[in-house]
Amino acid sequence: MEKKFVVPGDFIGTEEEYLAGDGTYVEGERIYSSIAGEVFESARKLSVRQKKSLRQLGVGTVFVGRVENIVEPIALVSMRVGQGEDRFEETDEYAVLHASMIRKGFVKNVRDEYRIGDIIRAKIVDERNGEMRLSTDGENLGAIKAFCKSCRHPLKLEARLLKCENCGQKDSRKIASDYRRADVQY
Ligand SMILES: [Zn+2]
Repeated sequence: MEKKFVVPGDFIGTEEEYLAGDGTYVEGERIYSSIAGEVFESARKLSVRQKKSLRQLGVGTVFVGRVENIVEPIALVSMRVGQGEDRFEETDEYAVLHASMIRKGFVKNVRDEYRIGDIIRAKIVDERNGEMRLSTDGENLGAIKAFCKSCRHPLKLEARLLKCENCGQKDSRKIASDYRRADVQY
């Protein structure tokens, strides 16, 4: 297989043909890259390996990350470097998302839109004093997977609302247009 460079969310293969390895996630039997990097195949397993750390990504880069901590009005977001959909390796690299950069319109607190553990797609919009600053203002940016604040079950998009399939709790997020797209065939 020739080396192919992919970015988060790129379709790289199907589960019929391959196993999903490091740097990938599966939605509806389709394997997608979860990081920016090169695709490798070994023993029918597809993985994406990353060449750059978060700090090396430039302004304008879009990546998938996880909200690791919230210290209002700021969220600390780590880049996905682990294996599988919800696994992240320990990292001391965080980018910063200010509440005002979450979406258009006034957002006072990060917690109005995101919770710790949410998987979001964000864009690096600025780098100052070694700090990467993010925005999620954009149709394809925002939460791609979010979890119930009561029971931590993933939330499902239902008629523009997020609802926990487990306990029925409703919640809202600034979501990306393809939020958990496995739930809507495409
Ligand atoms: Zn729940």
